[in-house]
Amino acid sequence: MAVHYRVTLLPGDGIGPEIMAVAVDVLKFVGKRIGIGFEFQEALIGGAAIDAEGEPLPAATLEMCRNSDAVLLAAIGGYKWDSLPSHLRPESGLLGLRAGLGLFANLRPAKILPELINASTLKREVVEGVDIMVVRELTGGIYFGQPKGIFVTETGEKRGVNTMAYTEKEIERIGRVAFETALKRGGKLCSVDKANVLEVSQLWRSRMISLGLEYPDVELSHMYVDNCAMQLLRWPKQFDTIVTGNLFGDILSDAAAMLTGSIGMLPSASLGEGGPGVFEPVHGSAPDIAGQDKANPLAQVLSAAMMLRYGLNQPEAASQIEQAVLRVLANGDRTGDIMSEGMNLLGCRAMGDALIQVLEELKS
Ligand code: NAD
Repeated sequence: MAVHYRVTLLPGDGIGPEIMAVAVDVLKFVGKRIGIGFEFQEALIGGAAIDAEGEPLPAATLEMCRNSDAVLLAAIGGYKWDSLPSHLRPESGLLGLRAGLGLFANLRPAKILPELINASTLKREVVEGVDIMVVRELTGGIYFGQPKGIFVTETGEKRGVNTMAYTEKEIERIGRVAFETALKRGGKLCSVDKANVLEVSQLWRSRMISLGLEYPDVELSHMYVDNCAMQLLRWPKQFDTIVTGNLFGDILSDAAAMLTGSIGMLPSASLGEGGPGVFEPVHGSAPDIAGQDKANPLAQVLSAAMMLRYGLNQPEAASQIEQAVLRVLANGDRTGDIMSEGMNLLGCRAMGDALIQVLEELKS
């Protein structure tokens, strides 16, 4: 094997283990063919870790993740752990993982797959060909800025406060991820802010403009967040890569994702500075269908493709996996969540088999 990667697998809860098994099979198949060796190591997170170790992110899990080239996560959570105090809830395992690995950039693609175009709530001519990547800053901005809290004023009235703040360094590091991402895609980057009202956005915009001088091959534009929300619904095809702060990105990445209409198809990536990134589906652990072989594994498989493209710099392997997903859909194979009339209904495992079969054909 020419290259070799250590990948930590975090199957988590609910449908997590089922969809992870499919992604691992696909990675092994493509890796063997292209000459990429994977050393997979598995660790506990979320409810599974609470049951076994009494905490949602055991130190050994974080350590294993730190010592790997990339982390592939499925999903965490479930009814069983809903009533635990918040520091013991499965979600705090995820937050701890993000903080522990210093993941400050969240990449959320929203791509319309031709075979699933009817799943979108928007008209075909509006969404056909949409392929957007939202790069969201994840560890700064109004969710973390100080001061924050609910304070009592001199008149005895309560006052809620949050602070939207970004340093130049924080803006530059997310900016760099976004410019590099745009270079790997269509070469267009739209920076979204509210510079007509917010000073923090004025600094954001000026740093993005300076950074743009280092990336002459990327076409940089700017848009106010309210206009961006409108444009995503009016004419989403105008966007290639979007970069924005934590709050605006939280909202816009969900809006962009829903252009596609199908949660079982959406992958994501969270990246840090130099260390391993975490790649995971946008959806949760779907406890309502867990253990029934009904889950759609494609978001997990596409997360594995993102891991190859954005975490391990293996674009050829990534694109083979993406092509395989398109082919199974073109063949009419569907899991229950994306099923429509006349298509073949498959379970999670059978969808995995269909992917491997298509990958075999891609080879010849
Ligand atoms: P969910 O995404 O798990 O499920 C929402 C609906 O979509 C359900 O009907 C589910 O069956 C369906 N669905 C989701 N993924 C699917 C897939 N791959 N194939 C087929 N159908 C799929 O969201 P929820 O129900 O709000 O949350 C369930 C649990 O997941 C909760 O404990 C929540 O805290 C957790 N959660 C975890 C993450 C994560 O791990 N990143 C994200 C969101 C929610």
